[in-house]
Amino acid sequence: MPGKRSDVISWDEFFMRVAIAASLRSKDPKTQVGACIADTNHRILSVGYNGTPSGITDDAFPWEDSDDPLFDKHNYVIHAEANALLNYRGSLKDVQGATVYVTLFPCQECAKMLIQAGVGEVVYLDDKYHDTLGAQVSRTALETCGVTYRRIELSDDALG
Ligand SMILES: [Zn+2]
Repeated sequence: MPGKRSDVISWDEFFMRVAIAASLRSKDPKTQVGACIADTNHRILSVGYNGTPSGITDDAFPWEDSDDPLFDKHNYVIHAEANALLNYRGSLKDVQGATVYVTLFPCQECAKMLIQAGVGEVVYLDDKYHDTLGAQVSRTALETCGVTYRRIELSDDALG
């Protein structure tokens, strides 16, 4: 009888691949972000991607920056981490100590939200805004509140 497979992907890679799959649903032409929340027992609680509130159709406003705030996507889009939290239909008690896998390091608003929801760890792929003030605020908030964060890399194969 053959032995069991030993070259399976890690939990980190599995959950990040789920986050990547979620990002593929994003209609945003510039930035597609996905998030996957996994509890301490390696169960997926929720997933999300950046998108508009469900009452707004994707065609209701241009998917670009605009000088008119009423038509600027940034004022309407809900970020992946926030959507993942909001999509969860169970008790927020389950989120205590959970790990959030996100394809892009969280902005300061999402960082605060994840902290307040009780998340214990943030695992991310991309950190393209690392040097911005917002990212510094995110790191400071996470560190101050005892939420750990770490970056992982996937093989090119995993990124499709
Ligand atoms: Zn955000």
